[in-house]
Amino acid sequence: MNLHEYQAKELFRQAGMPVNPGEVASSPDEVRALAEKYGGTVVVKAQVHSGGRGKAGGVKLADGPDEAAEHAETILGMEISGLVVEELLVSPAEKIATEAYVGVLVDREGQCPVFMVSAEGGVDIEEVAATNPDAVHKLRVDPRYGLMPHQAYWMATRLYDEPALVRQCAKVLSGLYDAFTRNGASMAEVNPLISTEDGQVKAIDAKVSIDGNELFRRPTVEALRDTASEEQGAARAREAGLSFVKLDGSVGCCVNGAGLAMATMDLVKYYGGEPANFLDIGGSSNPDKVVAALEIITADPNVKVILFNIFGGITRCDDVARGIVEAAGRIDIRVPLVIRLTGTNEELAREILADAGFEAVASMDEVVQAAVRVAA
Ligand code: GDP
Ligand code: MN
Repeated sequence: MNLHEYQAKELFRQAGMPVNPGEVASSPDEVRALAEKYGGTVVVKAQVHSGGRGKAGGVKLADGPDEAAEHAETILGMEISGLVVEELLVSPAEKIATEAYVGVLVDREGQCPVFMVSAEGGVDIEEVAATNPDAVHKLRVDPRYGLMPHQAYWMATRLYDEPALVRQCAKVLSGLYDAFTRNGASMAEVNPLISTEDGQVKAIDAKVSIDGNELFRRPTVEALRDTASEEQGAARAREAGLSFVKLDGSVGCCVNGAGLAMATMDLVKYYGGEPANFLDIGGSSNPDKVVAALEIITADPNVKVILFNIFGGITRCDDVARGIVEAAGRIDIRVPLVIRLTGTNEELAREILADAGFEAVASMDEVVQAAVRVAA
């Protein structure tokens, strides 16, 4: 789950990091009022779940309230990475001397958090890593001990020479580690971390992703979720208790069990098709889940066929069949369904489907080949 800059900054402040002040607005008049309040030059920034807002024209400096309102007019409603800007963050503009990059994320290989820092901040860090890898410094943290002071100082000395800046930077890094662990983040970064002309180190941008598995025990972080900018179908799937990942193909997949779902996607690819999604309806016997699954899959305009692959264990095939029939009555399914059901109550399931005019096959190869043929 991604956070907006202003939300990430609030978590950083709570962890004691120096962050530039700012307030959120959603209209040019509100932006004008904030610019008056701050006085002087302000920066107006699009709040969308995307990096590179500056390059896309979503970050603009304004010399006074009128110009700030003009920028708000331009940026509100703008699309950045397919996301519509509805909120702006207004901050007093900083006088920047240097821009650095600091970030911490989960190192899966090392099974620990890893810091990445670079004196070349303010630009795309992946690009720096690709073109000038020596400019990016990495440091793994042992989660049993956390970030040790000497490690924070080692990184800070990669970024600054002046002792006063090094000290401030080390504090920023330990705050960042705190914010990362306290909130169950999978990634937390500051780009740029600036030093100002008067010798202060502070974060003027913030990006945080939270690990979805951490949310159940962090209701205050969960409350920061922005449902509007979630991927299509993701919110509906979460409500219905389905595991769903949208993909770009045309074969909609509705499968029970993550393993079978993966195997089904593999087979779709093997026979020359492209799956439109990963969807695991889970192991329960609940026709409502099937209805929700069909609603989510049919909402994707790329889907040309819907493939059911059900192995009835705890899941009863007759329940899934009832779900399919119910969904067909409730929603307008404009694409063909190809169905394979096997296991618990499969005979009964076939009868239910046949009565409603659907046909089911028994083999996985057969049903996948049929789906790929229809989608072609
Ligand atoms: P991003 O493009 O989405 O990463 O948004 P940033 O918040 O990083 O802003 C992009 C760039 O705008 C920064 O790298 C800065 O160079 C510039 N910028 C942002 N805030 C200020 C500010 O307060 N003063 C000045 N002078 N430049 C700023
Ligand atoms: Mn940035």
